[in-house]
Amino acid sequence: MLAAMWTYEHGNFAVHQVPALSDNFIYLIATDDVLACVDPAEALPVVAACEKLGRPLTHILNTHHHWDHTGGNDELKAHFGCSIIGAAHDAKRIPSIDQGVAEGDALQLGGLDIAVLNIPGHTSGHIAFVIHADKQDALFCGDTIFGAGCGRLFEGTPAQMWASLQKLMALDDSTSVFCAHEYTLNNLDFCLTKISQSDAVKTYIAWCKDMLGKGLPTIPGTIGREKACNPMLLPAQADFRKAYANLHAISDDPVSVFTHIREARNHW
Ligand SMILES: [Zn+2]
Repeated sequence: MLAAMWTYEHGNFAVHQVPALSDNFIYLIATDDVLACVDPAEALPVVAACEKLGRPLTHILNTHHHWDHTGGNDELKAHFGCSIIGAAHDAKRIPSIDQGVAEGDALQLGGLDIAVLNIPGHTSGHIAFVIHADKQDALFCGDTIFGAGCGRLFEGTPAQMWASLQKLMALDDSTSVFCAHEYTLNNLDFCLTKISQSDAVKTYIAWCKDMLGKGLPTIPGTIGREKACNPMLLPAQADFRKAYANLHAISDDPVSVFTHIREARNHW
């Protein structure tokens, strides 16, 4: 049941990336003491990954309540007796949750200091986990930032989502962005067609085609590349924002421009 597993070394921890369902990614954060799974869409690939690693699952971290992020919670808890951590705000909607957390809470797992950020927009209780690493920081952002995109606004306003995206953009440019879906190339097609034909976008597209052609994921990306190419983040740049607002005869404040681009993506 383990279709593939890719591993990224961050110095004081490793991240194992496992594909699930049609386009989800599940992550396993590994230290000497802890094996924590982020957003188990389903249980079987996680069990298979644990068997391959020869270690039991100790924790589950959920970024939000959607079924394709929590679908494996019950079965994995029954199998491993692992502890489930998710947003306190959404405790009633996260299956088998043991510990609710919110921004400002100090979450320590296996010697790792994990920062929790509240990033509402896709859902009202969406959170992100940030691990400061010896080598390269890691962001687990669920369905908030994707490669060249962002999650749909099911339970939040554009202003909320924009504030959440800004919070993530404030992280170091080198931060690895471990998001939960492989949507990058489709998002970039939208970007190139409707939003930006910059060299950075074209380079990103060529890289994605190369990776996918080799059977490799385009995730994780980095905060720096997303800031340069992600159409949902471009409204942070004043020059882009003014030109876009002019072209579409809308107000040039960041939330108005972001709202217009998110709407265009919904109907693309
Ligand atoms: Zn979702």
